Amino acid sequence: MFLKEYISDVAGALKSLFIGMKRTGYYFTHHKEIITEQYPDNRATLVLPERFRGEVVMTHNENNEHRCTGCTACELACPNGTIKIVTKFDINAEGKKKKAVDKFVYHLELCTMCNLCIQACPTDAIKMAQTFEHSVYDRSLLTKVLNKPDSKLQEGVE
Ligand code: SF4
Ligand code: SF4
Repeated sequence: MFLKEYISDVAGALKSLFIGMKRTGYYFTHHKEIITEQYPDNRATLVLPERFRGEVVMTHNENNEHRCTGCTACELACPNGTIKIVTKFDINAEGKKKKAVDKFVYHLELCTMCNLCIQACPTDAIKMAQTFEHSVYDRSLLTKVLNKPDSKLQEGVE
């Protein structure tokens, strides 16, 4: 009984090995069919799928203006506290106080790339970028402020 099981196990292992080697042998003789990407050697030519989500970023125009009003809709939509909107009050042209974003704090290390914040933003201020090489030795580097220094709200965005 034991011997029979033993022989059956060995036969199963040999069969599995043969199937694997057959596949390896096939690609050894059919180089053109190999689709494995040679990352990171192909970094310069690497094209990611359009829908790939690498990190949340805030868009700025050439005048260093963004579209974030500091409404906190993205923060409320985020299921795991990845976003913290710090607000301030600006004085507008009429001399009135107006709430504005001071810092858009984004914890990349917590982000699941679910896209809910992007969908919640009423002004299209944020989007998904395709950057993906996020490894760092210091975890605190993964906490980012998405509005650039000295940037301001684009005129006409409410
Ligand atoms: S993509 Fe999802 S997890 Fe990441 S910040 Fe937006 S809502 Fe939060
Ligand atoms: S990114 Fe959009 S949703 Fe988030 S605070 Fe700014 S305007 Fe509001």
